[in-house]
Amino acid sequence: MWSTIADKKVNYWSHLIRKLSPGGECERCLQPTRSLFFLCESCIKELPQALHTCSQCSEPIASAGRCGRCQLHPPAFDYSCCPFLYQPPLSLWIKACKDRRQLLWLPRLSGLMLLSPVAALAQADAITFIPSARRKLFRRGFNLTEIMARRLARALKIPLIDSALNKTSGNDQRGLSARQRHKNLSNALQPGQLQLKGKHIVIIEDVITTGATANAAARALKQQGAAVVGIWALARTPPPDWYDKH
Ligand SMILES: [Zn+2]
Ligand SMILES: [Zn+2]
Repeated sequence: MWSTIADKKVNYWSHLIRKLSPGGECERCLQPTRSLFFLCESCIKELPQALHTCSQCSEPIASAGRCGRCQLHPPAFDYSCCPFLYQPPLSLWIKACKDRRQLLWLPRLSGLMLLSPVAALAQADAITFIPSARRKLFRRGFNLTEIMARRLARALKIPLIDSALNKTSGNDQRGLSARQRHKNLSNALQPGQLQLKGKHIVIIEDVITTGATANAAARALKQQGAAVVGIWALARTPPPDWYDKH
């Protein structure tokens, strides 16, 4: 009987120590990890990534360099960096945060961004984000990219600009074609009144789908004088034919 009580005490203390000390269980494989992060190292390596992506728009391509579309019609942003592809489990985590308001994903998704910081950040003057339309902000209660941008700016000690872009109206971009997105955005995203002459600005995004939103935001920043605009996003939606080949 006493040994059972002693065993229970040992179990209780080992459980408590594990709770209080760094490390825990990996969210995905449930294996113990010493890391403070929610994923173990092998699960981080297994997150969906493309072997090669376009250096400007981050679309997955066959070999390193710029995609044909960027060579023909370059977007307003100068470079982009998306460490992951918008596929499960990452896509499910982003949806859980945005659509089901599971707020524990806010620091986790920001933490995933910090695993692959953009090399050009060393030259960046400021970080910014694309604001939510008032109606969407009211419905969701928060803007994921704003929270990510604030966390990243604080972690990397880079100034944050929060009034470089104005979202005036427009419908949800999800489900729209590239042409429809462009039309929807031309009215929705307006430049602020900032003087950004010669500045290098990095826009934080959660997902780049067609690149239309990032393009409209970069154009608005350049209208305010920005010299270089980069996009740092968590994930990139692969083109439709990418799924047939992989
Ligand atoms: Zn794991
Ligand atoms: Zn491209």
